[in-house]
Amino acid sequence: MCVYKQMFEVYKSFVKVYKRMNEIILTMDDYEAMLKKAQEELPEITHGESRFTIDNVKGHLEGNKTVIINIKQIAKSLDRDPEHLLKYLLRELAAPGRFVRDRVIFGTKVSAKKINKKIAKYASEFVFCSECSKPETKIEEGKAGVMYLKCQACGVKKPVKTVR
Ligand SMILES: [Zn+2]
Repeated sequence: MCVYKQMFEVYKSFVKVYKRMNEIILTMDDYEAMLKKAQEELPEITHGESRFTIDNVKGHLEGNKTVIINIKQIAKSLDRDPEHLLKYLLRELAAPGRFVRDRVIFGTKVSAKKINKKIAKYASEFVFCSECSKPETKIEEGKAGVMYLKCQACGVKKPVKTVR
């Protein structure tokens, strides 16, 4: 038990160092400047009285590919399945892409600003309640595969699009 816990702690610190290294590399990248600009233009999404901030995407370009490192974290903050969010983004951006471990690699150059906008659109369709604007919702599957967005706050249940 203890050994496993120790190993996990070591692993966690490795992950921390690795993440920090990534950040340092990224700050040197031109793409970072682009992301900063996008960040300034998209500071916060306000839905009614509830204030909820969605992180902006972080990443860089690799040749003709776009690497985004925090899609999983964003999905987690929205309490949604990362695969569901990715499918939506690929369709909306009309770009190929997939998860490679925790990163998303898009097969084309996609601007961070564009991805941020699509994530905001995703949140308004699949996270925020259309009645009370709160983000405390769940996606449920109803009869005949119809998907619903059920609000935990006000109880409203509305059908949502199926993302294929
Ligand atoms: Zn509601």
